[in-house]
Amino acid sequence: MLKKNIGLIISLTVGLVISFFYLIGITSQLELNLGYDSSFLLKNKTKPFSKIKIIGIDQRSLDLIGEYPWRRSLYGQLIDYLGDNPRIIGFDIIMSEKSAYPKDDSFLAQVIKKRKNVILPVSLEPDATNAQKMEFVYPLEELANGAKNLGLTHYFPDNDGITRKTPLNEGFAESKDNINIFSYQIVKSYGAKNIDNLPSEIYCNFQGRENIFQVYSFYDVISKKIPASDFKDSIVLIGATAEGLQDRISSPIGPLYGVIYHAQLISNIIDNNYIKPVSKTLNVLFIFIVAFCAYFIWRYAQTANQVLLIVSSILILYILHFIAFSNNIWLGIISIIISNFITFISLILYEQLQISQSLRYELDKLINNFKNRNLHYEITNKIEISHDENKKLSNSVRVGKISDIGNILTMERTFLETLLNNIKIPIVVTDKNSFIVLTNPASEEFFYVKNESKDSNIRQEKKDLIGKRLVDITNSIPDLKADLIQVYDNKKDLPISLDYERADSVYHVRLLSLLNKAEDWNMICIIEDVTTWHKMANKDGLTSLWNQRYFKEYLQKEVSKSQRYKNDLSLIMMDVDHFKNFNDTYGHQTGDIVLKSIAKVLEENQRNTDISARYGGEEFSIILTMTDEIGAFIFADRVRKQIESLKILDINGNLVKGVTASFGISLYTTGSVSDLIESADEALYLCKDMGRNCVIKYSEKDIIKLQIEKNNIEKDNNDILSLKEKI
Ligand code: GH3
Ligand code: MG
Ligand code: MG
Repeated sequence: MLKKNIGLIISLTVGLVISFFYLIGITSQLELNLGYDSSFLLKNKTKPFSKIKIIGIDQRSLDLIGEYPWRRSLYGQLIDYLGDNPRIIGFDIIMSEKSAYPKDDSFLAQVIKKRKNVILPVSLEPDATNAQKMEFVYPLEELANGAKNLGLTHYFPDNDGITRKTPLNEGFAESKDNINIFSYQIVKSYGAKNIDNLPSEIYCNFQGRENIFQVYSFYDVISKKIPASDFKDSIVLIGATAEGLQDRISSPIGPLYGVIYHAQLISNIIDNNYIKPVSKTLNVLFIFIVAFCAYFIWRYAQTANQVLLIVSSILILYILHFIAFSNNIWLGIISIIISNFITFISLILYEQLQISQSLRYELDKLINNFKNRNLHYEITNKIEISHDENKKLSNSVRVGKISDIGNILTMERTFLETLLNNIKIPIVVTDKNSFIVLTNPASEEFFYVKNESKDSNIRQEKKDLIGKRLVDITNSIPDLKADLIQVYDNKKDLPISLDYERADSVYHVRLLSLLNKAEDWNMICIIEDVTTWHKMANKDGLTSLWNQRYFKEYLQKEVSKSQRYKNDLSLIMMDVDHFKNFNDTYGHQTGDIVLKSIAKVLEENQRNTDISARYGGEEFSIILTMTDEIGAFIFADRVRKQIESLKILDINGNLVKGVTASFGISLYTTGSVSDLIESADEALYLCKDMGRNCVIKYSEKDIIKLQIEKNNIEKDNNDILSLKEKI
């Protein structure tokens, strides 16, 4: 139940967490910077309230009147000149201290009292005795008494120093004073309708920095260049607009003169055109809706579509936000987007976690499998999850994509196990110290059944293969053992792919490195019996002796060894005498019987280290290692005699006349393999010339040649003699 709805639970939890963060204000700064400030750039602007007129203490006034601050009589003159035309005059000039000219103060006080339309500013400043405490600083009592009202001109910037909103009134618990904000006070005094339902704070709807209000130069008004009637029925704000006067705030749309900010707020309130943030409850509701949407996208969309959907939903949310913002509704969109992202990321993280858990589960199973096979070495507890079978089972029952991965792993493992158990090729996996960690029944057969004679021990032995060292069980294949030792000592690199012999069999062994070379799984050894193949490729079909191909390969190896170790190496070439005649007389089939019998003679006489080959037709060659010419001569002569005395029966079982053979011997000294074969051949031909059925050593070729010449001369003489006799 819990598992089934885990995605929903995650979205709900994320929704809750985001709502909590939203409510305690963690998201507010992002919301302000990205949602509120940036929106003014695209928002369509409306014209501010037209009756607001500003009289600016601008640079022109400073140039013509003189340095600031000016004498207060000037303000008195201004108010007097404007007369009853403005409905309200708001002073954004703090006058809390007495001026150096007491007459100026009383003149100004008199005018203010007479006109009854002036609102004077109150400021909020740190207490002189306690800087932590703020206190209201009022205008001179003399002036305040005549004013229509007082308003607080303080700004309330956010943490980033940017002023966006203002409360409508400000008060302190300790003081009974509660003062309306300057702009709000002006609106109230102006007598605008519908100001009862205002929120407790106003988010300013910034319409622009320049030229949105009519700004008159203070000098031009005071010098009566502007008719006073221009200000009929309007709200007049008097404040600094000169660069050097520093009365500016940081706003989302850039630096703004304080008096313009006040004008902006006044206009917003009168026209009911301020920015209205949606309620916190609605925002929390949005967060949950978005979290649910994220869940549904995660649950039901394909991966590629998920990205598309998330991008488009964010886009839609932004568009929604701008439409709303253009209508002065601020959706607090950022928290929504954050929640969208976070919900998604949480869900995806959860999925990732599940996949890795599934992998871990499969690995754990595999390792336990080996543990059950009495692993000799210690399995590290790197991957340690619950050994409780039930827990594992519940882990494996998953929905959707996750279970697919689990299934694939199970399938692959089953496939591998089946393959290993049924393949006839021995396969062994070892760790880096040659200990066997995985094997199959074929290897158990290979390493034990053939070596062990006691059948009762076989089962026991089979079980013990895991945990044994591979190098310890390869004694019967010394070359392989030697290679393995070198591999484990890092003196030989993998892969190795070579033929090794054991008794009458030849095995092709492949030693492969495992990809990651992890300590537990280091090398795979695959052993293939290639005896049959080997025979087919290297043996002669009729006599079962080695063929010429193998003979030459072997002779090359032995020649190299002889060069290196200075061992004696003898080669015998043998040819059956007058075999053509024999074939002609008794038939080819009987000839074949002879060749087989000769092969048998050769095999019976040779040592383990010697090899006999059928060089071609009725020609044979024998390689005798560690044997000098005399040794080879003794061997050849023994063979010669045995061939001579072979009793040969034809295909009908009748005894036929036997055969003889000629032998040429050569001892390897220097030169190539073909030199050695040529020498033995030369000796063989000398043997033929000597009358066949004999053994000739290449070393005595010169004496033999002389002998042959002598024989030929004698023969010629005899021929001449017999010819003479005939005559
Ligand atoms: P030589 O004493 O000078 O060696 O005389 P030769 O007749 O043995 O010489 P030659 O090389 O002319 O003849 C070889 C004969 O060996 C020819 C062929 O009939 C015979 N022969 C070659 N291969 C086989 C074989 O596989 N079976 C049989 N039955 N005869 C073969
Ligand atoms: Mg021949
Ligand atoms: Mg011959």
